[in-house]
Amino acid sequence: MKYDILIIGSGLGGLVSGAILSKNGFNVCVLEKGPKPGGCLQSYIKDGGLFETGVHYIGSMSQGQTLYKILDYLGIIPELSLKQLDVNGFDRIRFKGDSTEYKYAQGYDNFIDTLSSRFPEEHKNIEEYCRILKNVCDKFPLYKLYNGNFVDKLDVIELDTYTEIAKITRNEKLRNVLAATNPLYDGIKHRTPFYIHALIMNSYIESAWRFNNGGNELVNALINVIKQAGGTTLTSKNVTKLVEEGGKIAKIYTEDGDVFEANNVISAIHPSQTVNLVETKMFRPVFRRRFAEFKQTVSPFVVNAVLKKPLYTENSNYYCYSTDNVWDYHNAKDAWPGVVSIFPTLEHQGYYSVSVLSNYAYEYLDKWHNSYSTYYKKSCRGEDYEDLKAQLSDKIIDSVSEIFPEIKNNVSIHSMTGLTYRDHIGAINGSFYGISKDHNDPLKTFILPQTKIPNLFFTGQNLNVHGVYGVTITSLITCSYFIGINNLLYDIQRER
Ligand SMILES: Cc1cc2nc3c(=O)[nH]c(=O)nc-3n(C[C@H](O)[C@H](O)[C@H](O)COP(=O)(O)OP(=O)(O)OC[C@H]3O[C@@H](n4cnc5c(N)ncnc54)[C@H](O)[C@@H]3O)c2cc1C
Repeated sequence: MKYDILIIGSGLGGLVSGAILSKNGFNVCVLEKGPKPGGCLQSYIKDGGLFETGVHYIGSMSQGQTLYKILDYLGIIPELSLKQLDVNGFDRIRFKGDSTEYKYAQGYDNFIDTLSSRFPEEHKNIEEYCRILKNVCDKFPLYKLYNGNFVDKLDVIELDTYTEIAKITRNEKLRNVLAATNPLYDGIKHRTPFYIHALIMNSYIESAWRFNNGGNELVNALINVIKQAGGTTLTSKNVTKLVEEGGKIAKIYTEDGDVFEANNVISAIHPSQTVNLVETKMFRPVFRRRFAEFKQTVSPFVVNAVLKKPLYTENSNYYCYSTDNVWDYHNAKDAWPGVVSIFPTLEHQGYYSVSVLSNYAYEYLDKWHNSYSTYYKKSCRGEDYEDLKAQLSDKIIDSVSEIFPEIKNNVSIHSMTGLTYRDHIGAINGSFYGISKDHNDPLKTFILPQTKIPNLFFTGQNLNVHGVYGVTITSLITCSYFIGINNLLYDIQRER
């Protein structure tokens, strides 16, 4: 069967693009290499606890806000069960040796007032921070569902997160508090662009939500949109080759020997991996080299614990630092973990689960680089790998127990390294968020959806901004090549 549009990868980018195009009359087929769709959006149950693979909270989901409007346009809001995080402290920041808890509140006025109660003399500076944040976001009008111009962004894409925050205040503690959720984007001093910080912070300050029943709810709802329009999502279809003939992708091969044809192909996997899959002379060596040389964001180390009682009663996430400098955690090898991010999920059949995220550089896993363990080919990485995971898990649990001792009374724990994310999701070097953006050379990592092969397109977290909000907006951009951006924005905005 020949499809209008074949999509590689059923993560959020692939599924949102598939749903939008299906709704607009295209015959879509999504191919997913894993046994389950959803990529980083998948949720799963283990030892009674409900866990997210990647997405622990999402922003801009109150009625009338951007993400809500897009999902409403797709008609799937009734299928989602969401819980809003604590309006007066959705994220809480702790530093070792400092008994104060610093809270991020939802709504700009509330955010300013709540932080100002901890830093009364900094009220004006906190207002200024919010003004600058909104200002930068305004340069990205698509995030408010308005069409814009790339030129608008040129004066902000070179701003650096560390420097911009440092310009706003001389108060070191406030500087650190304002950048404290930087694990959300693998923030690196003098590297991470301020627009990444701004777009992500803005979405959560607007509103912050968690899935009651896990991200699978969104995955299933999007797959239904595709299905109802006559499209298909096929799992266990690992795309291994794209063959260009006559200037177009003519055939798509999967590992199990199937061959697909489509008028257009959207690759929702890492663009560097896509480029490697394409047999063509249209991609010159210099282009291939550029894609091979992208630096990836750090890889995660995740401990998931099942508990009989909630770890804490606040409906909030915690970011807990072992130092008072939020830019140092990457270098905390001797004092690892430099930071733990704690995400509780909701009750599931009498059990409570909590995910604790930290970073653990892929280089430290070098020894097992050539080992692969997937659903289809389970291979044992050996006792020393299990020992390392156990040691790291103990350190994480010890670190969390300094604030929440109940974590030690868990029913079970399991952990995941960058190798888990590499093998199960296909993340290069197990990277958290794909390509690491650099304010010093922002255009180097700007990747357009359209490639030199006119029927091959990119989408997904590597193009613009990662995360549910960023990936959804990127899907709009990719789909606009088929539908037209003004038509798409008009339909999304209409009566919403
Ligand atoms: C630990 C962690 C925590 C996170 N927390 C949050 C959060 O709280 N909030 C938030 O908004 N974002 C969060 N993110 C980021 C967010 O999950 C991602 O940015 C987003 O889900 C990426 O979607 P994607 O479609 O671009 O890619 P992916 O989800 O990576 O999907 C790519 C899909 O393509 C498939 N695939 C790969 N290669 C092939 C192939 N050759 N053939 C067929 N299929 C293939 C993969 O199996 C996968 O299903 C988190 C990420 C991680 C890793």
